[in-house]
Amino acid sequence: MVPSARALQANLLTVHERIGRACARAGRRPESVLLLAVSKTFPADAVRAAAGAGQHHFGENYIPEGSDKAFELNNPALIWHFIGPIQSNKTHPIAQYFQWVHTIEREKIARRLSEQRDPGQPPLQVCLQVNVSGEGSKSGVAPEDLFALADEVAALPRLRLRGLMAIPEPTHDESLQRARFAQLRGLLESLRQRGHDMDTLSMGMSADLEAAVMEGATIVRIGTAIFGERI
Ligand SMILES: *Cc1c(COP(=O)(O)O)cnc(C)c1O
Repeated sequence: MVPSARALQANLLTVHERIGRACARAGRRPESVLLLAVSKTFPADAVRAAAGAGQHHFGENYIPEGSDKAFELNNPALIWHFIGPIQSNKTHPIAQYFQWVHTIEREKIARRLSEQRDPGQPPLQVCLQVNVSGEGSKSGVAPEDLFALADEVAALPRLRLRGLMAIPEPTHDESLQRARFAQLRGLLESLRQRGHDMDTLSMGMSADLEAAVMEGATIVRIGTAIFGERI
């Protein structure tokens, strides 16, 4: 079901309150956490209604769904983040329609995005997706391969390496949630010590945003808590 404008407004308020409470517990300013509304599977009208309620950053997982929505809305005030797995034959619409990409895990994909990014546009802001769950099947670069990938991506001219992203395996154990997010924060700190000018931790979803904010998330990616169950 597509949520009504009124429901979206109420849900956005609730999510901002959750972020605010977590920030208060962590001694952080609420403005230090960006709310990314994950609109995958919801129509352009739902994005339009959320934008009307003051939400400007939207996350999409699929091409062409996400690029079609960005094209249809054609609103320069909206900022589009690609947060899904990237196939090498679908990099062009990502480079064209998105301002951020959170899911870089291979140099080949990063190089294509850099080559395809229009020089007339600002550099594409990118995060490296890290596999912090330690399972072979999950996506993301293995922590031991992260430094090499960061060096390669940072050298690409049309990309700007901003930070790290992770999707840990779901668990209700808050201490385990926090341990995974703390691991990502530790990796970002190591990269900064190696000279990378990175400032972004993209972590936390509807079920675990509090743990992520406690561990330093600067972008939380929230779908269900804003738009409802996916359609
Ligand atoms: C779908 C998705 C989200 C949002 O998940 P919710 O649990 O609905 O908040 C966040 N990040 C990524 C990468 C996703 O694919």
